[in-house]
Amino acid sequence: MDSEPQEETRTVSEEIEKNKTLKMKLKGCERKLVLIQKEQRKIWRELGDSYEFLKKYCKHDWRRENYSYSPLVCSKCGVGE
Ligand SMILES: [Zn+2]
Repeated sequence: MDSEPQEETRTVSEEIEKNKTLKMKLKGCERKLVLIQKEQRKIWRELGDSYEFLKKYCKHDWRRENYSYSPLVCSKCGVGE
């Protein structure tokens, strides 16, 4: 009996090309991911800064959700106590 896989239509040289293409695609993906994470960190920083500002300067209207031990949250700016 033949040990070669049956119904194999791919060739090694084609597969090498495909392999290279896939690795390049993966690299591109990883680069985009790094950029997205950088953007995400920037947004988190700005959001933190924004919350700090609001915490100081908003004339808060503290409200409590309708369950026990719920935290106080400003109904205007969304900042928590
Ligand atoms: Zn507020």
